[in-house]
Amino acid sequence: MDNKYIISTDLDGTLLDHNTYKFNKAAPALEYCDDMQIPIIFNTSKTFSETEKLRKQLNNNHPFIIENGAAVYVPKEYFEMAEPSSVPRFDAGEYWVYKFGINRSEILSRLTTFAASHPYSYKGFKSTTTRELSKDTGLTLEQAAAAKERQFSEPVAWLDKPEKLNEFSQHLNLFGLNCIQGGRYSHVIGQTNKAKPLLFLKELYQQKYNNNQILISLGDSPNDREMLECADIAVVIESPSHQDPILNTHPHLIRSRFQGPMGWNESMLNLLQTNTEKPAINV
Ligand SMILES: [Mg+2]
Repeated sequence: MDNKYIISTDLDGTLLDHNTYKFNKAAPALEYCDDMQIPIIFNTSKTFSETEKLRKQLNNNHPFIIENGAAVYVPKEYFEMAEPSSVPRFDAGEYWVYKFGINRSEILSRLTTFAASHPYSYKGFKSTTTRELSKDTGLTLEQAAAAKERQFSEPVAWLDKPEKLNEFSQHLNLFGLNCIQGGRYSHVIGQTNKAKPLLFLKELYQQKYNNNQILISLGDSPNDREMLECADIAVVIESPSHQDPILNTHPHLIRSRFQGPMGWNESMLNLLQTNTEKPAINV
């Protein structure tokens, strides 16, 4: 088929249930995408180890974006073309890694300098044990250990007054850092977000297929806002635990009727089965 759609999806609270981390309720829509050869790009705050494991469980062979847009992993040979060099890339075995953020060691060093003059109360993953993380998130010890293997970001549990979080974020910008709100944690990263590597990938798909691709993004949290805004079709998945990402006016916005993977399933089947022959919009 003429590959017309690309899907970018958040994981926790979107494709995966917020509490159980299961995706089985989205199985019919995932199978439909597979049959129609529509690539599903995981676009998550999760680490490489966590995302790769899930990708194998779902038999997904497509590129994926980790740690809130800090890097994109592209299977070698995937695009069968000379890849652009505008973004620094490195070789990671079966993948090329395009780096949009900065290394975690640099983030931790800047946070230490920052803390000396900005006394906010929070607890980062660096000072959180695997056991504590498992207890806070409901992940198994093994999953919590994988969640701590961060390369390009430092998630923090906010312990200060909620209204101070915006101020914290603005002050971090002066140190060349972004603070992005996820479902459970705030994530301190370099100056990137989930949209930057996604638009880079969209361009690679358009070059590969020599056509305009319709980008569908699905997310449930403020850290998905840029990814939703840059999409041709934005699908906001209802969350049991927090407010929707605040979207500026989006011309093609869908709000799911159900939470998590059930919402993912219904929204995508409605959208794709109605529009596969006649695309929802012309781009
Ligand atoms: Mg989420």
